[in-house]
Amino acid sequence: MVKFQSLKPLIFFHLLVNVLIVFFITGASYFHIPLEGFKDTAVYMMHLVALQITVAGFVYVLSLIPWVFRIVFPLLFVIYACFSFWAYTQDVSITPSLLQAIFETKTDIAVDLITIPYVLFILAVVAVLFFLLKYYNRLEPKKNLKLWIVPAILCIGLFFFLEDKRRGSLKNRLPYNLVYGINAYFEMPKLQLNHEVEYSNTTTDSLKVILVLGETVRADHLGLNGYARNTTPKLSARENLISFPKLYTAYTYTGASVPQLLTDRNLSDMERPLTTLFTVANTAGYKTSWIGNQTLEKSYSPVVETNQQVMLVDEYKSEFSFAKELDGVMIAPADSLLKTTSKQLITLHMIGSHWWYENRYTEEFRKFSPVIDSKYVPSLEPEELINSYDNTIVYLDWFLDELISVLEEDPAPTLLIYVADHGEHLGENGKWLHAQAGEEAKNPAYLIWYSEAYGNQFPDLIKGLKDSSNKSLTTDTFFYTALNLLDIDFKL
Ligand SMILES: [Zn+2]
Repeated sequence: MVKFQSLKPLIFFHLLVNVLIVFFITGASYFHIPLEGFKDTAVYMMHLVALQITVAGFVYVLSLIPWVFRIVFPLLFVIYACFSFWAYTQDVSITPSLLQAIFETKTDIAVDLITIPYVLFILAVVAVLFFLLKYYNRLEPKKNLKLWIVPAILCIGLFFFLEDKRRGSLKNRLPYNLVYGINAYFEMPKLQLNHEVEYSNTTTDSLKVILVLGETVRADHLGLNGYARNTTPKLSARENLISFPKLYTAYTYTGASVPQLLTDRNLSDMERPLTTLFTVANTAGYKTSWIGNQTLEKSYSPVVETNQQVMLVDEYKSEFSFAKELDGVMIAPADSLLKTTSKQLITLHMIGSHWWYENRYTEEFRKFSPVIDSKYVPSLEPEELINSYDNTIVYLDWFLDELISVLEEDPAPTLLIYVADHGEHLGENGKWLHAQAGEEAKNPAYLIWYSEAYGNQFPDLIKGLKDSSNKSLTTDTFFYTALNLLDIDFKL
């Protein structure tokens, strides 16, 4: 029989280590989650406890080999604390693109991040580690190994069990997101691209196109598509606007749908190297630029990089950040780009209507209320979720209308193409959000606006668009339609 007295030092040590890890590292992933009421708080506390139990298992195993523990543990603790400071103070998410910036030395950004509070935080971390290691040196870490090893392995097993039940539930948070982020960074994109086209020409010497790549917008929640609520008052009043309410996609998440929309990928032929819209446009003499309000995912970053210019406006905050910039920040850079040359394709990649909806628009667009006040879906009323979602569409209506106003002022023929990457579940069959099976996420919004000058120069193209506007379309055709609208004749 093991006496509790003899177990005490080890128990206290591990309790202390884990409390400090929560304070300095893992707690950061939970700090910015908007919580409302006891139930929300309780759910996220349980989540944090479960995550920390898995961490405790790994720490125990690490503590069994003293020299490894003395070197590896402080090193990991400091590295993690460096990241958690950003997560605490700026709600930065650890993504492969953030890691890419770190690994590929953007020194100006790195220097900007080193502030006095940051240095103080790291000094506190070093002091805590010093104390912990002194404590550790007095312990016999392998004492009662037989008693501890099985629970420790079960704690580690809990990580794999929970990840298996719901992918990403733990690995998107500290400390696991760093491991997975590094892994994703080093796993180079599998997307094979073809950078040469046989020919690509246009006879047009002046044409400016803004392609807006929307996010998570269902066609049936647009007032102009017959939705009962007038979510699109500005666009509904626009002339020269054609909507395609019957566009269907096979993909329900960004990483898969974006490469399909922007390349010649089609569902029947997935293996060959893909050619991007931008490669064809570049060859035809267009200036191609990408302005993104989303961090690039490795699944489509090679596609984006075929643009001549790539600007990311809010690079280090993922869609899960609660302090993400609004899409409106892309209007000014697009406006100045438009003035630079006469043949342009500018792509704006929105964060759009991606969860969490309340971060996608400002007060003045809150047309429908009550709105959501928590991130925990089960605690929310369906009406609140739909109200918040519809308010993001009201913001989209303003955003596109502003872009059209910019294009309208340009004497060149101009065109705005808006296509969302996929839709969203709004309670159908008890489902919410996206990236899961179901038809509601497969009917994205799709609109085209053209200037008078464009309409006069390309009457046949406009007629073709109008004729097909009520037909059932798939996203496989988007690549060809877009190049057609750019007046490009090409062979791949
Ligand atoms: Zn998406």
